Amino acid sequence: MSDDTLLVTDIQRYAVNDGPGFRTNVFLKGCSLRCAWCHNPETINKEREVYWKRRLCVQCGACLNACPRDAINAPIPPEEAQSEGSTYQKIIRERCDLCMKCVDACQFGALEIVGKPMTTESILDEVEQDRPFYDRTGGGMTVSGGEPTAHPAFTGKLLDDARKRGLHVCIDTSGFCTWETLKSLVEKVDIVLYDIKHIDSSEHERMCGAGNELILDNLRKLLELTDKEVWIRMPILEGFNDSIDYHKRAIEFLKSLPRKPARIDLLPFHNWCENKYDWLGINWPLRNIQALEPLRLEIIKDLYEANDFVATVGGSGFENREGL
Ligand code: SF4
Ligand code: SF4
Repeated sequence: MSDDTLLVTDIQRYAVNDGPGFRTNVFLKGCSLRCAWCHNPETINKEREVYWKRRLCVQCGACLNACPRDAINAPIPPEEAQSEGSTYQKIIRERCDLCMKCVDACQFGALEIVGKPMTTESILDEVEQDRPFYDRTGGGMTVSGGEPTAHPAFTGKLLDDARKRGLHVCIDTSGFCTWETLKSLVEKVDIVLYDIKHIDSSEHERMCGAGNELILDNLRKLLELTDKEVWIRMPILEGFNDSIDYHKRAIEFLKSLPRKPARIDLLPFHNWCENKYDWLGINWPLRNIQALEPLRLEIIKDLYEANDFVATVGGSGFENREGL
């Protein structure tokens, strides 16, 4: 894919939890980490993919006939494929070369291409449709993913073009990239949404596929060498980073930073995305873990506030913002 075009999985309008005001979130495809709880598994792989939606599949067999690579399993009775706990999958992923002939053949909408190639212009034309909402609420565009810093040239152009159109811009990043890349991109935004998943590197590596040294070092540089507004985002998962003791240590880490982040957003884990894992043919180990009740995080939020941090549960962009 050229620097002018990138795969986008979704352009989500009227978002209220990813920066101030009403926002449009742009989800770029491709990520540099592998977080076990990822709520957007369709954004991890930078290549196009195919969803197979078992509830829509009537097992007609048209895709089997269309596939040139013998990458489709033979039909079985629909009620069997749709039964609780069924492990039947339509696509044999390791044989598939993403030709998409099966998608064209399916008359029932059970097969879908994930990832639409878009230019910065086509993205921004869509984003601009909600300009009146941004103007009224202090909103704008948030570039998310996946990981925006995994595509520095495209993301840089998207941010530049957005600023030329007068849009308020946030970037939502894991910070897992070189400092040079992060610096070049944050220079172009109004607010940086920055993830801290775990302050212990070994735990971070266990759940995200890489240690956190680079991420924490980049955060320190971001706060020391730039004047950007930074919102810390903490996805909270039971048994991983939900204890009071953990957050006492996280607060000590945050206090050691060169300046205080503008706020801390505690984002409770949920498993509402389990269908997406199924549609991609991924057996997601966390699918049966219950969503964290936001109320359970209030006590953690109180802890941050008692230590003089602005904190939210859920990350609403309408909280703690004067005039909104
Ligand atoms: S063509 Fe569509 S409905 Fe028919 S078997 Fe394939 S996925 Fe299912
Ligand atoms: S995308 Fe192409 S290769 Fe893959 S399952 Fe469909 S028809 Fe077969």
